[in-house]
Amino acid sequence: MKPGSLRAVIDRRRCVGTSNCAEEAPDAFEMDEACVPHDVPGADAAALLVGAQACPVGAITLFDAATGRQVYP
Ligand code: SF4
Repeated sequence: MKPGSLRAVIDRRRCVGTSNCAEEAPDAFEMDEACVPHDVPGADAAALLVGAQACPVGAITLFDAATGRQVYP
């Protein structure tokens, strides 16, 4: 899949701030100063998937940016 082809939505109520997503996929997820993750615009789809799969609480959902279809989990 092309960069920017997936969109990540992070459930901030579920996120517990472990930063696994940013550590496993630093090109796709960053932690801000409040230890809240956000996705990097235009990130590579494979990197987004690695980061989403690293989340221990399932706080990251991925969608096809073109169709809006949920692709992970
Ligand atoms: S891996 Fe999950 S719980 Fe940890 S910071 Fe990222 S979204 Fe939050």
